[in-house]
Amino acid sequence: MAADDIARESMEYDVVIVGAGPAGLAAAIRLKQVAPSLSVAILEKGSEVGAHILSGAVIDPIALNELIPDWKAQGAPLETPVTKDVFLLLGPAGEINLPSFIMPPLMSNHGNYIASLGALCKWLAQQAEALGVEIYPGFPAAALLYDDAGAVKGVQVGDFGVARDGNHKSDYTPGVDIFAKYTLIAEGARGSLAKVLLSKFELSKGKQPQKFGIGIKEIWEVAPDNHKPGMIQHTFGWPLDDKTGGGSFMYHYGERLVSIGYVVHLNYKNPYLSPFEEFQRFKQHPAIRPVLEGGKRIAYGARAITEGGFQSVPKLVFPGGALIGCSAGFVNVPRIKGSHNAMKTGMLAAEAAAAAIMAGRQRDELVAYEESYRSSHVFRDLKRVRNVKPLWSKFGTLLGVALGGFDMWTTTILGGWSFFGTMKHGKTDAAATEPAAAQRKIAYPKPDGVISFDRLSSVYLSNTNHEEDQPVHLQLKDPTIPIRVNLPEYAEPATRYCPAGVYEVLYDEQGANPRFQINAQNCVHCKTCDIKDPSQNINWVTPEGGGGPNYQNM
Ligand SMILES: Cc1cc2nc3c(=O)[nH]c(=O)nc-3n(C[C@H](O)[C@H](O)[C@H](O)COP(=O)(O)OP(=O)(O)OC[C@H]3O[C@@H](n4cnc5c(N)ncnc54)[C@H](O)[C@@H]3O)c2cc1C
Ligand code: SF4
Repeated sequence: MAADDIARESMEYDVVIVGAGPAGLAAAIRLKQVAPSLSVAILEKGSEVGAHILSGAVIDPIALNELIPDWKAQGAPLETPVTKDVFLLLGPAGEINLPSFIMPPLMSNHGNYIASLGALCKWLAQQAEALGVEIYPGFPAAALLYDDAGAVKGVQVGDFGVARDGNHKSDYTPGVDIFAKYTLIAEGARGSLAKVLLSKFELSKGKQPQKFGIGIKEIWEVAPDNHKPGMIQHTFGWPLDDKTGGGSFMYHYGERLVSIGYVVHLNYKNPYLSPFEEFQRFKQHPAIRPVLEGGKRIAYGARAITEGGFQSVPKLVFPGGALIGCSAGFVNVPRIKGSHNAMKTGMLAAEAAAAAIMAGRQRDELVAYEESYRSSHVFRDLKRVRNVKPLWSKFGTLLGVALGGFDMWTTTILGGWSFFGTMKHGKTDAAATEPAAAQRKIAYPKPDGVISFDRLSSVYLSNTNHEEDQPVHLQLKDPTIPIRVNLPEYAEPATRYCPAGVYEVLYDEQGANPRFQINAQNCVHCKTCDIKDPSQNINWVTPEGGGGPNYQNM
């Protein structure tokens, strides 16, 4: 049955927010702070708030200080202040410690906190609910609803109880239509509705393409002697070659916890590269392995991170709503921080939406949000570092990091001015992938099961779960492309870039007749396939509500 023929219940709010991450929650809280009478709902696809949140996380409290100034007294879970900041350049067998005085001041983590962003979101959700915000976890926004004038008038929640073949099961429940005066999209990096809006309203016209990285993270409980609460360490260099961007983070916090992760920039060229195996290999480095030895890995996950920054920020508003947080992409790449800007842009959009509704407006463009972004600290934060990512991409890691550091000093001293002007990013990450024939195969070491692991045992630690009998949420525009195009041209990189082992190329007993298999139930919702598939053939859509990882305090 076509979606339009289905009788659906509907609900109406002043503002509906898609996504209970830092952006969506900060927006909801701000709305109720400035206009308590407004009705506000948040839809969240995870089984609970925080279930799909993955971040480093060193949190700059600049936006939280504005949103809830007494957050300490209110018990916000930011308990480990940063006390030591280490920056290493790794080679295969050793490392160089870069002194902090060569780092531009904006890279300093003084005053920041090491925490779980998932835990912070749970706490923000409590604050929002106390103000009267309605939060619906397990309710994915599956489609946008438009009025006769073409403005967004709300969203449709995904149906429950649809079988893999599209038939309705006995527990079929049609998703509710949620109507609102304004719809705020807070889906994070590569949102599935944001993608539709960016294209329909040409929001990226005249901007640089959005760039992404894939971040893979584990949480370890380390031996007491190895725990240095408050210490954060970043590395670049090995195991990636000079032409491949990325680096690691390792944050010591809480009770013997270490958050360790690796970000690989998704503009890498070699389709044989596996971000997951690079991370596993990285942990074996003599500067890293000793920290983990004697400890236990307790959590695993992966998520895309936006890296386009200043020059990739799209037009933020469309008739009926706005993009906030990483749906638009406000990550400061050299700082690997985006949660503060996600919160602040949520607050700015909320202020614009509240003022508009109080003035009797609805479903128009929230121009005031776009204007306030331009005069905000988010804009300045991104502007100063705008050339760092393009410099890395153009000159390779060693020279690029040095030039990026120089450029950040310049922009800091000269109020945003740069010798490089504003550099371009060039190609999309998908287009950056080169044919396999032009690249070398990479032989990754086998996991030792102590420090390094395989994909399946890793996904197990993400507590990922999807209803098995449902349509595959990784839609192939053309099902023949993986075997007909991607396999001969690019050695089907989906089998390597997916951090959850969702994609496999299987052969018959004679090693012939390859077929493409999608193990959709393993998907951790990182969105990398939607971004990196060189044929742009994979469309990530929301699965049945509550499906996906069940991260505990990632
Ligand atoms: C590995 C890694 C390390 C990072 N480290 C740091 C760090 O140390 N410090 C820092 O400040 N930032 C860091 N970031 C960036 C930071 O995590 C993001 O900037 C921030 O999470 C963006 O917030 P958001 O609310 O825009 O999106 P998200 O945090 O991604 O939240 C989006 C929410 O929306 C939900 N959602 C998505 N689509 C739908 C839908 N259609 N329907 C319903 N719900 C939906 C998701 O389930 C999720 O809960 C890191 C990111 C990564 C990947
Ligand atoms: S299928 Fe796509 S979104 Fe899911 S885990 Fe793999 S790469 Fe990430």
